[in-house]
Amino acid sequence: MSTGSPLQARVTARLSALDEHCLIRRLRTPSGFDLSSNDYLGLARHPRIVQAMTDAAAREGCGSTGSRLLRGHRDLFDEAETAFAAFKGTERALYFSSGYLANLAVLTTFAEAGDVVLSDQLNHASLRDGLRLSAARRIVFNHNDAHALTDHLASAHGDGQTFVVVESLFSMDGDRAPLAEYATICRDQGAMLIVDEAHAVGIYGARGSGLIEELGAGDGVFLSVNSGGKALGVAGAFVAGPAWAIEYLVQRARPFVFSTAPPPAIAAALEAAIDVVADEPERRATVRRRAAALRAALIASGAAIEHDDSPIIPIVLGNADRAMAVAGMLQARGFDVRAIRPPTVAEGTARLRISVNVGLTDALMDEFVATLMAALHAADAWPAVSS
Ligand code: PMP
Repeated sequence: MSTGSPLQARVTARLSALDEHCLIRRLRTPSGFDLSSNDYLGLARHPRIVQAMTDAAAREGCGSTGSRLLRGHRDLFDEAETAFAAFKGTERALYFSSGYLANLAVLTTFAEAGDVVLSDQLNHASLRDGLRLSAARRIVFNHNDAHALTDHLASAHGDGQTFVVVESLFSMDGDRAPLAEYATICRDQGAMLIVDEAHAVGIYGARGSGLIEELGAGDGVFLSVNSGGKALGVAGAFVAGPAWAIEYLVQRARPFVFSTAPPPAIAAALEAAIDVVADEPERRATVRRRAAALRAALIASGAAIEHDDSPIIPIVLGNADRAMAVAGMLQARGFDVRAIRPPTVAEGTARLRISVNVGLTDALMDEFVATLMAALHAADAWPAVSS
């Protein structure tokens, strides 16, 4: 039998190190009550959206057969993009097969050598990776700190363009960026503001288009990146903004140009999802109400979290093994809560990421809080570390 290559030995050692630090991930099929998905509005199984996708697949087939700029384009993509731009209140939108690629596209297409990009410390890996691939200089500023951003902007002047990139609702902390302040600061300093609305689109704003709408920051935002795979229940992401910028992405964004277009049926499903968000505003109101109630119940039990209605609730426990132990106990009791560990979050801040969806009932919430508290005490993980 082969003893394996040096590469295999190295990889095996890396995997053992992950295992030692309780950082091995497992692919687990969902079971139990959903407290971990991003299907906040329950649209992944919405009959109208499923029907739109099924009908389109029957008409169009499965694959798109090429990139959008070759034979992969369909009217369905145009229709979904036009619908999304109207929903978001921008001139134009462009669909990407994932939010990860959309973020890579935005940051590598617009930020050039000589430019500066200021990036929130807790930005998602896809934004950080986009900056790694970009030739621009990157400056990381303290999380949600408008003063730090102002200071950096004052000293960051280069010859080129300055950009600021943030998430509007942070994916692992569930807190909101001060977008209105950022918009003013960027306008004053001539910086272009890019906002990842991955976890906010569908939930915030009177029309459900996101936190940019809710905070009235639209005029000050250059581009937004809007997941289709979270509250909208489907997949991919729309980049929304001025027509000239979207046209530049069509021409130059490598993840768009050099990748096969997604199955056209996905575009049909997304268009239906945008309609459902408009037609069923009670879904987002319910999620926010339930999130506020669950947060209040957790705070009453001593959790160091904020009174808010954000559906992402972090319970920071510090060690990865502790977070895994508590998550395991909850899963054994039928609650699908996942532990989030480095490198997704910073070392020493492993946590439970509880996400609230529209299907959560009062009775389930009460049972969950009691089960969580028992699990935290059993794992000697209480009180939790403040985030
Ligand atoms: N941005 C944020 C803030 C995210 O949380 C995620 C996914 N978790 C992405 C971008 C990437 O989106 P996608 O899953 O569609 O690739």
